[in-house]
Amino acid sequence: PQQQSVTVIGLGPMGRAMAAVLLDRGYAVTLWNRTASRADDLVARGAVLAPSPAEAVAASEAVVISLTDYAAVYAVLEPAAPALDGRVLLNLTSATPEEARAGARWAAGHGAVQLTGGVNSPPSGIGQPESSTFYSGPRQVFDRHRPLLEALTGRADHQGEDPGHAALLYQIGVGMFWTSMLSYWQAVALARANGLTAADILPHADETANSLTQFFAFYTGRVDAGEHTGDVDRLAMGMASVEHVLRTNADSGVDTALPAAVVEVFRRGMEAGYGTDSFSALVEVLGKSAR
Ligand code: NDP
Repeated sequence: PQQQSVTVIGLGPMGRAMAAVLLDRGYAVTLWNRTASRADDLVARGAVLAPSPAEAVAASEAVVISLTDYAAVYAVLEPAAPALDGRVLLNLTSATPEEARAGARWAAGHGAVQLTGGVNSPPSGIGQPESSTFYSGPRQVFDRHRPLLEALTGRADHQGEDPGHAALLYQIGVGMFWTSMLSYWQAVALARANGLTAADILPHADETANSLTQFFAFYTGRVDAGEHTGDVDRLAMGMASVEHVLRTNADSGVDTALPAAVVEVFRRGMEAGYGTDSFSALVEVLGKSAR
């Protein structure tokens, strides 16, 4: 059978991993990248480097886009707009939901369809069966390109027609990732200030992180029911605890921006009258803009 043709635009760590996996799977791969030399090893493996974004887009119906942000997407694709008619843009560039919706409208204005993707793995997870990507946009386009999407990440998870929704789910996970990792760097800084290494605290850090999923499971039903009963924990207890954390960091001479921000959110919960409720009531505090 004839090889299916795919274009990949953007050869950062992600785009390069995707192009490599598509070559492994036997796709005919056309590439474009602002810095052409990043395509060298892929071209050596049989990919074709297009001389312009327009020629890259013209080469395949399916166009995978993996750029830094949507400003880069427009910078690359605006000059190629006349070539977009009839194309499926698998846009895996990270964006806000609003940016993704605007991108889908822009694509539609040029006769193309955007499927928004949010990849839940680092470049090393590309092509791995256990990795997953959220997609949103037209279901029939998703279904038609499913083998290609499953080549990129084993699980391709369609999350509805709204092109912003995949971006929303992606940002929810990424927000948890950055804040959780920052809490880890804070822990390592505090450990170091007290003569401990990252290796010394690894078992303790693992146990603490792994315990979180039980808290998610316990609080989910209660939060969805709007229930913040202070039967197993109380915000006032949490307030005292986060102040101990803040003071321990301050006494150790490490940066206190993160623990102080945590104390500030707890304080707002106390001021809102949730002291005898569960600290899950903070979700109500966080759900309202402070301004
Ligand atoms: P990079 O930012 O490293 O590279 C993306 C590409 O964008 C490069 O090819 C770069 O070209 C190009 N680019 C940036 N600005 C412009 C511009 N103004 N004009 C033309 N080209 C431009 O990103 P990654 O490969 O790491 O990631 C791609 C997307 O995937 C991002 O949106 C990222 O958030 C998302 N993602 C990344 C993950 C990761 O672990 N890396 C994990 C999950 C999602 P050049 O080579 O010329 O600089």
